Amino acid sequence: MAVQQVVPGVHMIAVGPVNTFLIESNDGWALIDTGLPGSADRILKAIAELGKPPSAIRYILLTHAHPDHIGSLAAAKKATGAVAYIHSADAPIAAAGKGFRPMKAAPGLLTGILFRLFVRLDRVVEPAPIEHRVEDGERLPIAGGLTGIHVPGHCAGQVAFLWPQHGGVLFAADACSNMRGLGWSLGYESIEQGKRDLSKLGAFDFQVACFGHGKPILENAARKFREKWAVASAV
Ligand SMILES: [Zn+2]
Ligand SMILES: [Zn+2]
Repeated sequence: MAVQQVVPGVHMIAVGPVNTFLIESNDGWALIDTGLPGSADRILKAIAELGKPPSAIRYILLTHAHPDHIGSLAAAKKATGAVAYIHSADAPIAAAGKGFRPMKAAPGLLTGILFRLFVRLDRVVEPAPIEHRVEDGERLPIAGGLTGIHVPGHCAGQVAFLWPQHGGVLFAADACSNMRGLGWSLGYESIEQGKRDLSKLGAFDFQVACFGHGKPILENAARKFREKWAVASAV
């Protein structure tokens, strides 16, 4: 199966190095992020494995405009007819398919090596229209209610999404990762803002956390954020 259940009603579809997610709802399903260019077929195959046609997806939520998250937005929109949501700071990048802002590597020798190997922001992806701009604290009428939390340290237009069901499910985007345990993403536009973002996220109530990169945390996720980032910000 290309698709893995995180909690009932939430599925993770790993497309290469990045995770995308589906949230089920009677009012139309939501897809969170779309992977690198060329990922749409794998996402559609996963939707078919769940017994749904592409048109079941009514909303595409983009956590931020990096090529590994918006790369297949245009193709996914064409296949599903869904409307796209992204923060206003990143909407022009998604609409143009280019203009990615530079980042700096996060702390750590290995992170620096991986950053230089894998982070490519000088590319162009297929542009796609954006129907809705998400602001901090906005409650979206999707999947019974989903709150956008602006976390701009990794990318100025990055938004995490909190779904209050099942004890709270946080879609943390690239605010951090869970590749080799809970830790930094490879890069940040502002690491200082990134630290503030992680304190901000840890103050919310959520049992489960999903990441753009790495495995979901399935229990006590908010507490793990608080433990990890309280220590990190003291270093
Ligand atoms: Zn990113
Ligand atoms: Zn990413």
